[in-house]
Formats: sequence, structure tokens, C-alpha cells
Amino acid sequence: MNIVVLVKQVPDTYSERKLHDADHTLDRDSADAVLDEINERAVEEALLIKEAQGGNVTVLCVGPARATEAIRKALSMGADSAVHVSDDSLHGADVLQTAKVLAKAIGTVDDVDLVIAGNEATDGTSGTVPAIIAELLGLPQLTHARKVEIDGGVVKVERETTDEGLTHLQASLPAVISVSEKINEPRYPSFKGIMAAKKKPVSTLTVADLGIDAGEIGLANAWSTVLDVAPKPPRTSGEKAEDDGSGGTKIAEYLIAQKLI
Ligand SMILES: Cc1cc2nc3c(=O)[nH]c(=O)nc-3n(C[C@H](O)[C@H](O)[C@H](O)COP(=O)(O)OP(=O)(O)OC[C@H]3O[C@@H](n4cnc5c(N)ncnc54)[C@H](O)[C@@H]3O)c2cc1C
Repeated sequence: MNIVVLVKQVPDTYSERKLHDADHTLDRDSADAVLDEINERAVEEALLIKEAQGGNVTVLCVGPARATEAIRKALSMGADSAVHVSDDSLHGADVLQTAKVLAKAIGTVDDVDLVIAGNEATDGTSGTVPAIIAELLGLPQLTHARKVEIDGGVVKVERETTDEGLTHLQASLPAVISVSEKINEPRYPSFKGIMAAKKKPVSTLTVADLGIDAGEIGLANAWSTVLDVAPKPPRTSGEKAEDDGSGGTKIAEYLIAQKLI
């Protein structure tokens, strides 16, 4: 099994995340950057499949030079190699451009059987990249997987639809899947894994290497534009009700006033 895992470096959700005032793109210096947690789970799933079936796990990232840190983390977990697409012209790239670049970069990996992504990135949160890639590559897509099984040339997936609903999907390989946070618990990189990661091959590509014209991508060519941004209003302190024996009534009155009951 040759598996490509799509990994994104994102601002740590524990940091205060900011956008540049001028063009509303991400201010990458304002926050710590980490491998997105959902992508740790995607890497974990690829490693579990490889451990059961053999094969190779390649991680693929579109991101600035600093994204090598996220790539190294995925390699230290146990992935075999990486492809890093890094190009200044990608600044402000939209979802469609990002998916196009990822799809072309997947094409640089030999005989791919399975592409594994997270279901949604914690920064962009569009949750559309895996589906667009499947469309561009003409592959079946099985999204929001909470369980994955490879059975010969077939991938079977339990897809969560609602709190209680499940859909069982299957498709022949090659295919694109995206995983939800319920899929597994990612492993921590071992010391041996961290040392080994330093020597694993990382191929760094520009958009020109992928046959994409730099003049077609980036903020100026995005199909969608962030027009305005505003910080979330600070949380208010809430309303305090003294319980003088009528606490239950006060709570009920409050909920009725808020139209919650
Ligand atoms: C601060 C900020 C500003 C933005 N401004 C604009 C804008 O002006 N116009 C516009 O159109 N869009 C804008 N975007 C959207 C941005 O281009 C998307 O974040 C990006 O294209 C990927 O979409 P997503 O994060 O929603 O991915 P999702 O679809 O939510 O990600 C799902 C999965 O796809 C994979 N994936 C996604 N991105 C990558 C990647 N780069 N490398 C490897 N795997 C990946 C991962 O496995 C991920 O878990 C902005 C995003 C941010 C964070």
C-alpha cells in the first residue's frame, strides 16, 4: 500500500491567532505553528494500515518554509518520506488553488493507493480540500471516516453522519479518504523516531516543478476574498441569580426570557 497523507501546518489553537491588516492573510509570526491535530490522526491511520499491510507512507504539505517542522513531526511518528510544496506565489492561495497544487503533487508519488486527509483544518475550516482533490484526480471520496478497513483492493469506511447515524461506504482503490477526530489516538514520536526523521527524504517542490503557472495562483487570483475581519467580542460575565429559595423560578424565568424554553 502506497499511502499519501495530507498534512497542514496550522497556528496552534492555544495561541492568539491573527490576520494581517493589509490583506487579511494569516499572520504566521503571531502564533506558534503546529502539525494540525486531525492530521496527526491521519498519519496514525496511515501507519496502522502500513503496519498491517506493508507499504510506504508519504506525507505531503503545501506551506511556507516553516512547515518543515510539521513535516518532521509526521516523519518522526513513522512516515517514510515527505513532499513539501513551498513557493512564495502561494501566499493567499484559496481552497481551489490549494487543492489543485496538492492534486498535482500527489501525482509526483508513484502508484498511490490511498490518500488520507483530515476532515477539516483548524484554521481554514472549509472541509472541502479532500473532496476537491478526489474530483480533480477522478477518484472516489470517502469522507468523515471514523473507522477504515482495507480489504484487498477495497477500502471500507464507517462515516459518521449524525450523533447516532452511521453510513457504511466502500470503494475500490485508489481512493481519497478523510478522517474525523474519532478515528484513533495518534502516537507520540519516540526519541528513536525523532532521530530517524532527520535522515528521511523530503522533496521540496515549487509550483513550477508541478507545471503550474505562478501567475494563476496566490491572493490576486483567489476565487474568494476575505473582505473584512473583526475580533470576537469579549465574553460577558453572565447573569448571577441569588438563591433565596426562588432560584429555580429565577432560572426558569431567565430561560423563558432568552426563548430557550
Ligand atoms: C488566515 C487565512 C486567510 C485566508 N484567506 C483566504 C482568502 O483570502 N481567500 C480564499 O479563498 N481563501 C482563504 N483562506 C483559505 C485557505 O486558502 C485555506 O485554508 C486552504 O486553501 C485550505 O483549506 P482549508 O484549510 O479550509 O482545508 P480543509 O478542507 O478544511 O482541510 C481538510 C484537510 O485537507 C488537507 N489540507 C488542507 N490544506 C492543506 C495544505 N496546505 N497542505 C496539506 N494538506 C492540506 C489536510 O489533510 C486537512 O486536514 C484563508 C485561510 C486562512 C487560514
